[in-house]
Amino acid sequence: MPDHDVIVIGAGFTGLTAAVALMEAGCDVVLVEARQRVGGRAEAEYLPDGTRIDTGGQFFCRDMTHLVDLAKQHGAEEVWTYVSGRPSYRPPLAEQRGESIWQEVDRLRDRMIALDLSDPALAGLTVAQWIERQQDEDPAVLDSFRRLVMGLWCRAPEEISLAYLASNDRRITNVYPELEMFLAGTMQGLAEKLAARLGDRLRLSSPATCVTLMDDEVEVDVNGRAITARQVIFAVPPVMARQIEISPALPARLTKALDAWSPGCVIKLMIGYETPFWRDRGLSGSVRWSTPQGMYACDISHGNYYGLVVFIGGPLASDWHKRLQSELVAFVTDELASALGEEARTPRSTCVRDWVNDAWSDGAYSDVITDLHSPDAEDVLLEGLPRLRFACSELSPSFPGYIEGAIVAGNEAAQTVLWKLGK
Ligand SMILES: Cc1cc2nc3c(=O)[nH]c(=O)nc-3n(C[C@H](O)[C@H](O)[C@H](O)COP(=O)(O)OP(=O)(O)OC[C@H]3O[C@@H](n4cnc5c(N)ncnc54)[C@H](O)[C@@H]3O)c2cc1C
Repeated sequence: MPDHDVIVIGAGFTGLTAAVALMEAGCDVVLVEARQRVGGRAEAEYLPDGTRIDTGGQFFCRDMTHLVDLAKQHGAEEVWTYVSGRPSYRPPLAEQRGESIWQEVDRLRDRMIALDLSDPALAGLTVAQWIERQQDEDPAVLDSFRRLVMGLWCRAPEEISLAYLASNDRRITNVYPELEMFLAGTMQGLAEKLAARLGDRLRLSSPATCVTLMDDEVEVDVNGRAITARQVIFAVPPVMARQIEISPALPARLTKALDAWSPGCVIKLMIGYETPFWRDRGLSGSVRWSTPQGMYACDISHGNYYGLVVFIGGPLASDWHKRLQSELVAFVTDELASALGEEARTPRSTCVRDWVNDAWSDGAYSDVITDLHSPDAEDVLLEGLPRLRFACSELSPSFPGYIEGAIVAGNEAAQTVLWKLGK
């Protein structure tokens, strides 16, 4: 007789959602998490003055209905991102030209999303190869599109599979801006509220190292102890799933599907100031860089905290990962000073979170498919095995790569497992 009905590995939003849904359906579930905290890629830190800020996943919008509902259910207060005023461009660009480039980039993205992926002419292409074929486009628009890919998917377009990106972006269906709001108590704070419902079903500092699949049960090794259950959910991103030893070895198609993914590279900086000085100049605090590629900033002020978040994604993040963080802060505040004003050189607080090669996610925001010859990697993983289910934001039918996607993926995994258990 197994110890439990279900073992869920990973207490990010996918695993937390799945575990809570299973618990509420009357299952005996245990959730094991490698870190000393819940939330996974949603993480927060306290500044010396007690302000809590998001160092991982943060923003959402009204289209992300599961997340909106979850926040409401737990009484989490929303903060609307400050967007009044003009955006800044680096190097400087007339606002009208900047806006028109962004509209064209959106149009190009729509064109990519609408591609017929069964067309043999598109098979095995990278995003960069597809961009090169768009010769009728303004080079500035193509350049900005590359920048968008690096900034959002955090790897070079030369590496990312076109079929993956088109299929992925099709499922990101927001009408409202994706940075529309965030939570005053942080996204990790919401994860903690969800985790509190699980009581002692949650085990922190409990990395799953080995999973043995048997005919009638699964065995998961955690801290040198074996736990058994009827089903296991791997609620970890693909690059982390392949670090868990599985016995007997996975069928070749599943190994290939896991190997198809690479982690994104991102560094997030939160720079706090005495006052939101940019607003006095009619600026929103949003900064769009064409050079260097892969940077973006916006206002994250809330309560008594005035600050900007700066995202660095893709090859630029890989480069900065190898250098001193003090040099990175100097570089970023210098850039912000050029875009918003000299006051940017004297922050009140700085917080740098480098996610490149992170111990338990290996990267962020999302893993992306870089194997150009694994167009079915997601479908194969979603099939899983009779006692094993893969679930994570990356594999979500809506908003993959986002917290909303993780919640949807967690719910779906719970429903599938309940069906398998006959509940
Ligand atoms: C800097 C940054 C900014 C982001 N910004 C946004 C944003 O603004 N909006 C948005 O919607 N999304 C954002 N994201 C993405 C979002 O955070 C993720 O898509 C989402 O949190 C993924 O949830 P998940 O549960 O699928 O995976 P994860 O959060 O990665 O959870 C997996 C969990 O599994 C654990 N784990 C791994 N291996 C093991 C093991 N062997 N045993 C036990 N546990 C293990 C990990 O520690 C982790 O807790 C951002 C991410 C980052 C890092």
